[in-house]
Amino acid sequence: MSDAILVLNAGSSSVKYAIFGAAPGADALTHGQIDRIGQGAVWHPEDHPAEPLPLPHDAGHKPVLTWLTDRLRADASDLNVVAAGHRVVHGGRDFGEPCVVTPAVLDGIRALSPLAPGHQPHNIAGIEALQTVWPDIPQVACFDTAFHRTQPRLAQLFALPRALTDEGVLRYGFHGLSYDYIASQLPSVLGARAEGRVIVMHLGNGASACAMVNRHSVATTMGFTALDGLMMGTRCGDIDPGVLIHLQRTHGYDADGLETLLGKHSGLKGVSELSSDMRDLLASKTPEAAEAVALFAYRASLSVGSLAAAMGGLDALVFTAGIGEHSAEVRALVADRCGWLGLSIDADANDRHQTLFHTAESAVAAAVIPTNEELVIANRTRTLVAAG
Ligand code: ADP
Repeated sequence: MSDAILVLNAGSSSVKYAIFGAAPGADALTHGQIDRIGQGAVWHPEDHPAEPLPLPHDAGHKPVLTWLTDRLRADASDLNVVAAGHRVVHGGRDFGEPCVVTPAVLDGIRALSPLAPGHQPHNIAGIEALQTVWPDIPQVACFDTAFHRTQPRLAQLFALPRALTDEGVLRYGFHGLSYDYIASQLPSVLGARAEGRVIVMHLGNGASACAMVNRHSVATTMGFTALDGLMMGTRCGDIDPGVLIHLQRTHGYDADGLETLLGKHSGLKGVSELSSDMRDLLASKTPEAAEAVALFAYRASLSVGSLAAAMGGLDALVFTAGIGEHSAEVRALVADRCGWLGLSIDADANDRHQTLFHTAESAVAAAVIPTNEELVIANRTRTLVAAG
């Protein structure tokens, strides 16, 4: 039996998983995902047709994760699973590095749940499900916030009273595992430019952008929570805080109501009144869908300007995640607004999803790089487990 590492990446409505060989650099042996959790979950195993889970339509993360871990245990009966790695969205101020999950660490992760209510409980459910099925293996938590610990203090501050800053009301940033992976790929894609001023746009269901200098985060669009920054599938992104006060005073919203409005009913879904899924909007003929796409790209391009200002210029713009990797149309909409920074893209190369798609004259490189958060988790887990 060969040794293997199991990786779980539990998101708001999906769970991605992968099993890697335990040796350093070993590839994924299998991977897949379950999506539409809570609305008739569907399993997408590697190289097999998708199948609905044999669970009630409204089954949430806990039963889905229990089903998945049981299934993986049965499927991996010829493998010796020696460790598991998890994506954990919020590490707060205490978790700046991946760490082995102990009862105290799990308590610390639980205490951060109010800061990431749409993700952290699912990450915890994944850890607990594996503890039941493989009680004796070490589990490693890899934090999405950790990559942004290199941000200078000014990039982390809100202009709030100092006492709140001291309490930890700071801009943490997210999608760090994805940025970590992209940072590792930049030298092979960009050459010497990799160490310069690079903006990476992670445009998925959740979306954010990160300014990197020397492949380290110096600024990012998400802040204290994953609601901030870019417009997303169902999240509003940047908003005048006065709107929240107005909604509380005149529409009777409380904290839970605002969380649902801003986190689940806004973004592409709220503006289009059609769907949170970019594919649906690009295929639609309604003016509301077109406006949602245009607003998404407009606001993404504003963030490019802001992050370029944080770095004093721009050497490369990199796209990743579902929309960034697959939608040449959205990439073009964003990039075409960045001409003032010296970026010009080759439309044909972009349409062909070529890795580099800037023109020969462009002062700024444009690239598309598929992300791989699971590989980062596997590598961090291997390293920590090997260190014993
Ligand atoms: P998550 O944040 O859930 O991991 P993904 O990175 O998988 O999300 O991105 C999901 C988004 O990517 C959805 O809006 C989906 O419509 C979009 N997407 C996937 N493929 C395409 C495509 N070919 N064209 C446009 N958008 C796409």
